[in-house]
Amino acid sequence: MVNALTIDVEDYFQVSALAPYISRSEWEATPCRVERNVDVILRLLAERGAHATFFTLGWIADRYPHLARRIADAGHEVASHGYGHQRASELDCEAFLADIRLAKAVLEDVTGEEVKGYRAPSFSIGRANEWAFDCIGEAGYRYSSSIYPIQHDHYGMPDAPRFAYRSREGLLEVPITTTRLFSRNWPAGGGGYFRLMPYAVSRWFIRRVNEVDRQSAIFYFHPWEVDPDQPRVPGVDAKTRFRHYLNLDRMEGRLRCLLADFEWGRVDRVFLAAEVQ
Ligand SMILES: [Zn+2]
Repeated sequence: MVNALTIDVEDYFQVSALAPYISRSEWEATPCRVERNVDVILRLLAERGAHATFFTLGWIADRYPHLARRIADAGHEVASHGYGHQRASELDCEAFLADIRLAKAVLEDVTGEEVKGYRAPSFSIGRANEWAFDCIGEAGYRYSSSIYPIQHDHYGMPDAPRFAYRSREGLLEVPITTTRLFSRNWPAGGGGYFRLMPYAVSRWFIRRVNEVDRQSAIFYFHPWEVDPDQPRVPGVDAKTRFRHYLNLDRMEGRLRCLLADFEWGRVDRVFLAAEVQ
């Protein structure tokens, strides 16, 4: 069974949880680490001959067009993470549509390939803004991976379907993978949980989805998670600090295990291709 591996390409200072501590106006002058970190990931994938989907910010592709091209040239899928990393839940329909259209245009211009997929920053689509799916379809995307069906203080739609479903005519939603245990959904598809829990738990969760649910998993992480030496953002509250910096030095080793223990591919090939057949 092939699972889908995904990377949300943004820099450490663009993370939603750190937004209260670094303003957008500081982005331009903040030293970037994303290029170095994506290269680490590209090397890890090449070692295993694995392919992945990179949900890339339009903002990043504008500044590092050669980076987006390098991702595409290595056989990976370049998809969209929007332009400016604003949560869908903080925009109205018009502003959201403008953001996701701009990102698609920038990424297609840089790579010369159709951008089929979109992921909302911080999984910010929930019951209150399901209109966002209409915008994603209208902007010309063919799939979205914007829902994490778990209970979380910053995001999540715990009652959403756990597996790929048609959220709208012509639009496939591929929710981040959860495993069902004791009548609730447990995070099996990455995020801070992957760094918090022992690796063996993550592996058991994904195996359960493959073997019990008979479904492909979709897993995500960020370039800044493979960078234990990233500059520390000052003034961050204890909970955010714990979540952001925990076990960064173990991430590369855990990713190596993940790449060795499962077979990984691009979202368009694992989910969209299966849907079309
Ligand atoms: Zn993001």
